[in-house]
Amino acid sequence: MKMYDYIIVGSGLFGSVCARELTDIGFKCLVLEKRNHIGGNVYTENVEGINVHKYGAHIFHTNDKRIWDYVNRFAEFNRFTNSPVAFYKGKIYNLPFNMNTFHQLWGVTKPDEAIQIINKQIEIYGTKEPKNLEEQAINLVGKDVYEILIKGYTEKQWGRPAFELPAFIIKRLPLRFTFDNNYFSDKYQGIPIGGYTQIIEKMLYGIECKLETDFLLEKEKWKELTNKIIYTGSLDAYFEYKFGTLEYRSLHFENEILDVENFQGNAVVNYSEKEVPYTRIIEHKHFEFGKQPKTIITKEYPKEWKFGDEPYYPINDQKNNKLIEKYKLLADNEKDVFFGGRLAEYRYYDMHQIIASALLLTYNLIKK
Ligand code: FAD
Ligand code: UDP
Repeated sequence: MKMYDYIIVGSGLFGSVCARELTDIGFKCLVLEKRNHIGGNVYTENVEGINVHKYGAHIFHTNDKRIWDYVNRFAEFNRFTNSPVAFYKGKIYNLPFNMNTFHQLWGVTKPDEAIQIINKQIEIYGTKEPKNLEEQAINLVGKDVYEILIKGYTEKQWGRPAFELPAFIIKRLPLRFTFDNNYFSDKYQGIPIGGYTQIIEKMLYGIECKLETDFLLEKEKWKELTNKIIYTGSLDAYFEYKFGTLEYRSLHFENEILDVENFQGNAVVNYSEKEVPYTRIIEHKHFEFGKQPKTIITKEYPKEWKFGDEPYYPINDQKNNKLIEKYKLLADNEKDVFFGGRLAEYRYYDMHQIIASALLLTYNLIKK
């Protein structure tokens, strides 16, 4: 008899959903977390009565009613709609690219007029088969939107020229010919009232959890104590980097408490000029329509990832995709260890996708 049925490595959303589901079915779980708090990147911390998104702005959105109902079991959500604006050379533009943006850019008031301008620019500057982000973006929205709202932001974010980046990154952004500033097209959207940490606390309620414990430092010891492991850390680290290191893009967050009630009038303002070193400023109180006398802002500076930094964005280019495939082959042969989450899969996943894949994994484990 082993002490635990499952040891779960990582208390992020993936690990916590697994821990909850497996515990509810009667399995004994232990969660190991190397940070000094639970929650992974969705962690929020209350400062001056404001819930600060410590690892970047997190807006929950999904089209899947099942996932929406699931997450609503752990918190009440407000009706926040993400409508970021972009700042470029002293002017403000609405995002995502929609009729408000086109009016601000060209003074047009009707969809037909906007479509005509965009099509003309695509005709002149477009490419038949877009092979990179620059070509894809121009083919989608034309030259003006690309130059003003995409190029500078993207090159800061990824630290590479846009023509060296994969085209798929830009396909995440909606393009609309209606006056609709909603960044997401999903049916359900909101922010948990009181922050995200409570969701993880409720998911882990009654489950043993050890903080500041890096599983990889004593892998063999933990394996002795359990029948099965769910691992949500990096795959290359698990296999001791035997084929080399996967690359990431990292972020540096600079927080400021300001003695003003309202600094920028919106939760998210993107800075698309290349001369401004940060990509966006988050004003946290606006996620929950806060009226506190002070405000907290975070400037987000992208940076190249190096050992010891938080790995935020996987770089899914050819070189790294090849490497992760080699690690995945090893992972497939690892007996009684199950890998999941954005680090182990080396894929940028939103929260709703993480919950769905954690539910699928536990469903398959329980069925066995
Ligand atoms: P993580 O949250 O990274 O959790 C993994 C955990 O495992 C971490 O706590 C880590 O410390 C721990 N761990 C790793 N290795 C070990 C080890 N060896 N031993 C012990 N513990 C270990 N999604 C949205 O839906 N909407 C958004 O608006 C949004 N905004 C985002 C903004 C940013 C800047 C980023 C980076 C992500 C954003 N996301 C957003 C995505 C969201 O953060 C992820 O979908 C989610 O957090 C992934 O959960 P996870 O459990 O897979 O990974
Ligand atoms: N992007 C851009 N301008 C913006 C916002 C986004 O060019 O104002 C590009 C950028 O390349 C980014 C991608 O669109 O990496 C996806 O944007 P998203 O807002 O989904 O990025 P995330 O919030 O995940 O960092």
